[in-house]
Amino acid sequence: VTKGPKSPPLYITHIAVEMAPIAKVGGLGDVVTALSRAVQEHGHHAEIILPRYDFLLSSPLLQGITFEAEMDWGGCKNFVTTCVVEGVRVFFIEPSNGMFKVGQVYSQPHDDEVKFEFFCKAALEFLLQTGRQPDIIHCHDWSSASAARAYWQDYHHYGLWKPKVVFTIHNLEFGAAAIGDAAMNAQKFTTVSPSYAFEVGGHPAVEPHSAKFSGIINGIDTDIWDPLYDQFLPTPYSAENAEEGKRDAKKALRERLGLRQDRDCPVVGVVSRLTTQKGIHLIKHAAYRTLDRGGQFVLLGSAPDPKIQADFDELAGQLGGDMGAFCYAYDEPLSHLIYAGCDVILVPSMFEPCGLTQMIAMRYGSVPVVRQTGGLRDTVFDVDHDKARAAWEIHGSDDHTKAGMDGTNGFSFEGTDEGSLDYALNRAIDCWYNDIAFFRQLQSRNMTQDWSWNKPALDYIELYYSAIKG
Ligand code: ADP
Repeated sequence: VTKGPKSPPLYITHIAVEMAPIAKVGGLGDVVTALSRAVQEHGHHAEIILPRYDFLLSSPLLQGITFEAEMDWGGCKNFVTTCVVEGVRVFFIEPSNGMFKVGQVYSQPHDDEVKFEFFCKAALEFLLQTGRQPDIIHCHDWSSASAARAYWQDYHHYGLWKPKVVFTIHNLEFGAAAIGDAAMNAQKFTTVSPSYAFEVGGHPAVEPHSAKFSGIINGIDTDIWDPLYDQFLPTPYSAENAEEGKRDAKKALRERLGLRQDRDCPVVGVVSRLTTQKGIHLIKHAAYRTLDRGGQFVLLGSAPDPKIQADFDELAGQLGGDMGAFCYAYDEPLSHLIYAGCDVILVPSMFEPCGLTQMIAMRYGSVPVVRQTGGLRDTVFDVDHDKARAAWEIHGSDDHTKAGMDGTNGFSFEGTDEGSLDYALNRAIDCWYNDIAFFRQLQSRNMTQDWSWNKPALDYIELYYSAIKG
């Protein structure tokens, strides 16, 4: 449905090294695709320029790909091909020097710097040589940071005159120097949640540019994440029949993972990369605590670091059985069943620029237990402590005592220690055991909250217009 822009339609070009689902490594890839689709729904035009990685050749989503341009540039020939992916026009840049034939998006850090810098300039060259004049060039993280400087230095005065630059940080942990440089050259500079914007506001890469810096929360793709049309669930459900749908999903989940069916107990789940960022010591502790409280614990995740993985293998050895299941793999179908079949989804991150799992959990009627940081703080409102904040953020009301203004949706904690986690997890588990009616009501309420791209897309569109105004 085209909603129609209120001002002239915008033409936005993303220069990015990831896009979901064809070249996705993390949240950046999701954002590039979903944001492009969402702004198009409002009547604007978005395009993505992406390296033509060798692994893309086999992607079924690249059917109908056609030739677009050929450029002599950077000491080699560059072929540009194009097709529409997920409703968005994508241009693929393929240099004849074979730079992107390494089987994956990221490889060795130094090589990545060289090849992505080459890619950024080739993308600008493509815009220049084909006479394109987007209103906005939108760059993402360190990997396309160099496009911002190159644009103003080498292209703006030489024919590619129109664009303004918007730059988004998805994670400041990587490539802060490049990010600081891009910020200097961007007209608007954003990150993926207001709280993360606040938390990184004092960072040397960010602070000098704080006047043009803001946080816009990511959304989730509500077509992909929809329990009413989810092929991986036994019974489709919405807020109206959540109890039945979730009961069937819980049964299927237990069956799949060998957990016992005859316990009337809460199931606590984690779906996560197992890295320090994600609070691994707290994930481990939560497994013990949940079993201690008579609940079942499900973990789906994998650790890139072999030492961390060995630690988790030990945990599985100790707690795995008919009350605890530990799956160390990347398993999309299983993740859907976990979001649906669990009562509680835990996200105890040390830092979290935005985080998608808590929003997916709510869409599937699970109750999030999170550490109050970054985007987790902006999306999860504690039932005991955040009534006023939730009423304001969810309903735009400053009176949370009015009927229907309770937007609280989970349990949260502040500290990074085990006691802090216990404080939130115990309240969630207590609530399940002692007041199941309230717990069910909370689950249905969570399913009605809007964590889609609807609102974030409007915020980005406004930001694009303000970048143009200068
Ligand atoms: P990050 O991008 O830092 O990993 P996010 O919360 O932004 O964290 O996004 C994580 C996404 O990856 C979610 O969609 C989650 O469901 C998915 N995910 C993480 N680990 C796994 C896994 N082992 N199997 C399937 N999906 C996973």
